Amino acid sequence: MRFFFFLALATHAFGAGIGSYGHLLVADAPDAARNGVRVTYLGANGYQFEFKGHALLVDPYFSRVDLLSVALGSRIRPNVFRINNGMRYLAPGSDAILVTHGHFDHLLDVPAVMAKTRARLIASPSSVGLARRAGASSGDAVKPGDVRRIGPWKIRVLPATHDRLFGKVPFAKTGSHTGEPERAADWICGEPLAFLIEANGQRIYIDSGGTSLRPPPNEHVDLAILGVALPDSRVRLHAALAHLQPRYVLPSHQDDFFRPLSAGFQFGPLTDFPRVQRESAQQNGSRLILLDYFRPWTLPKAKNARSEKRTPKFGATN
Ligand SMILES: [Zn+2]
Repeated sequence: MRFFFFLALATHAFGAGIGSYGHLLVADAPDAARNGVRVTYLGANGYQFEFKGHALLVDPYFSRVDLLSVALGSRIRPNVFRINNGMRYLAPGSDAILVTHGHFDHLLDVPAVMAKTRARLIASPSSVGLARRAGASSGDAVKPGDVRRIGPWKIRVLPATHDRLFGKVPFAKTGSHTGEPERAADWICGEPLAFLIEANGQRIYIDSGGTSLRPPPNEHVDLAILGVALPDSRVRLHAALAHLQPRYVLPSHQDDFFRPLSAGFQFGPLTDFPRVQRESAQQNGSRLILLDYFRPWTLPKAKNARSEKRTPKFGATN
């Protein structure tokens, strides 16, 4: 756990805001016409997608447990005050909550959010098991290749990998503890998943990071939300963008999720946004964007409607 203390020091020494990248920030104007899927960033790897009165959540996490509690192996609990605060920005109901993996910064708040939104959980078998042990009433355990159609959403479940932190996937496997998850280490990674979400003829790929072992599929998308918290996920970024050829690239999981959302977006200590910018610049035809917390942005329709018909644009790299 020593590295967590290192992280704590690094965070407080080097934390930087999103302000210096204002030119990359996108958000709807107050009177913007909404003819596409609307995306709201919730912090960490959390998102809400909305279309025609329907909403979908991915990895909603508002509690933002402090680093010391994680490092010391203290009991961690969802923070009801912070969850309620965050959910003030969300649609009152939600069709489903998709979860990429079982770590606390993706799954801890899900049972509480399910209770408030009546959303159904779609996650790996181990994440569904954890959520149930933490009080979730139900869960749809999925595996790569599965497809779910809910409201306007078509959700394809894809395989993914998890970044290593100092050489290994953190909290990869469960210990002997099989009751209610209590400490950060009880919220095990399980089988990481990615999702391809389609609605309104628009395609959104989302993962929470990954390694070069398993790049995303060759599926051209309108928006790629790619976790870039740790070095592994930046190493695979070039290949991920080449496969997805997104119209928009939204790097994700870059903020310091040990600080409360009320402190504003601060980059995490192990992020490297200049590198993300360089990798994205090499992918012709992809526009790099950033979202700030709770400031919705509507994904514009592609000019030729079917993004997968776009001409592949390789060859600009060196
Ligand atoms: Zn994780």
